[in-house]
Amino acid sequence: MVKTYKIAVIPGDGIGIEVMQEGIKVLNTLEKLNKDIKFIFDWYDWGCEYYLTTGKMMDDDGIEKLKSYDAILLGAVGFPGVPDHISLRDLLLKIRQEFNQYINLRPIKLLAEEDCPLKNKGVKDIDMVFVRENTEGEYAGVGGIQREGTEEELAIQTSVFTRKNTEKVMEYAFRLAKSRNKLNKVTSVTKSNALNYSMVFWDKIFKEKAEQHKDIKTETFHVDATSMYMIQRPESFDVVVASNLFGDILTDLGATLQGGLGFAAGANINPEREYPSMFEPVHGSAPEIAGKGIANPIAMIWTVKMMLDFLEHEDLGQKIMGAIEEILKDRKKLTPDLGGNGTTSEVGDMICEAIKK
Ligand code: ATP
Ligand code: MG
Repeated sequence: MVKTYKIAVIPGDGIGIEVMQEGIKVLNTLEKLNKDIKFIFDWYDWGCEYYLTTGKMMDDDGIEKLKSYDAILLGAVGFPGVPDHISLRDLLLKIRQEFNQYINLRPIKLLAEEDCPLKNKGVKDIDMVFVRENTEGEYAGVGGIQREGTEEELAIQTSVFTRKNTEKVMEYAFRLAKSRNKLNKVTSVTKSNALNYSMVFWDKIFKEKAEQHKDIKTETFHVDATSMYMIQRPESFDVVVASNLFGDILTDLGATLQGGLGFAAGANINPEREYPSMFEPVHGSAPEIAGKGIANPIAMIWTVKMMLDFLEHEDLGQKIMGAIEEILKDRKKLTPDLGGNGTTSEVGDMICEAIKK
């Protein structure tokens, strides 16, 4: 029986549009090789350019439109001239929140030693995954400006951590640690010495969850120390659970460890599958390299692999990873961020060729 998946494709802006082409190319290649799987792609030209002509980042009924899909693929959003807080709030954060995608999964895995900035330090075994809280925390959007225009003007930005959501995020992290068979460990990132309500609460729930999962080792570090340890001994991390802000920052650091943002894949997951999940690389629209055809498509293609895993086609996902590893080993054509002179589409083609082998 042929399994058909309806995928909403939102390329977005800048290099998002360029790398999306390669992600779709890979899916088309897999479809040709597997008679029992079919993808239906619906393209949506939402993003900053859409905003500049229509005044909106997405259609008013955009969320309604997206509801019926099996998954959403997103390139990147952002454009000079459109304030970041608008592009983020009205598209990305809106979809994450409306579809209760409370898990942001970001794998950090070093595939080729030479791409790691710590290569001369003998570091190689980097393989961790971040479970970042994705719908509340520091990005809850609560706060305001008071006494605007006066000398006493002030801004307030409030974090919101609900017990329900925090428990679910940590539960997800513990289950993931169990399924990974690596160190059987969850590291919790905190800052409870300074954030005396939110992070103390976070720590308390983490302790409760650890009690329920005694077979999993746990450790708790402050965010500043975590950034140090990720450089000093990255091999000691397995699953890391972090708040929205801390997870955002630390995963860029992690992306650098794995060779740069051109490698960093991500998934916004609604584990209960009440709504579609959304798959998007960690990087943004990178305006200064956009239009040149030199963006690294690996992050997007790895993201496609995460989508296939979520759709329970891990076999196809493994094929993609194998192909990425192969082209990194050969190093015949890579994009400039990896020291090569290849183009986005050449790298996409090479990965498709490797998949076909
Ligand atoms: P955002 O706020 O949308 O996350 P940002 O300001 O963090 O955007 P990015 O667009 O993520 O910036 O990229 C930062 C820099 O990293 C880019 O300017 C570019 O040099 C590099 N970069 C990001 N993604 C890629 C990629 N896929 N290939 C090559 N270089 C990339
Ligand atoms: Mg960024």
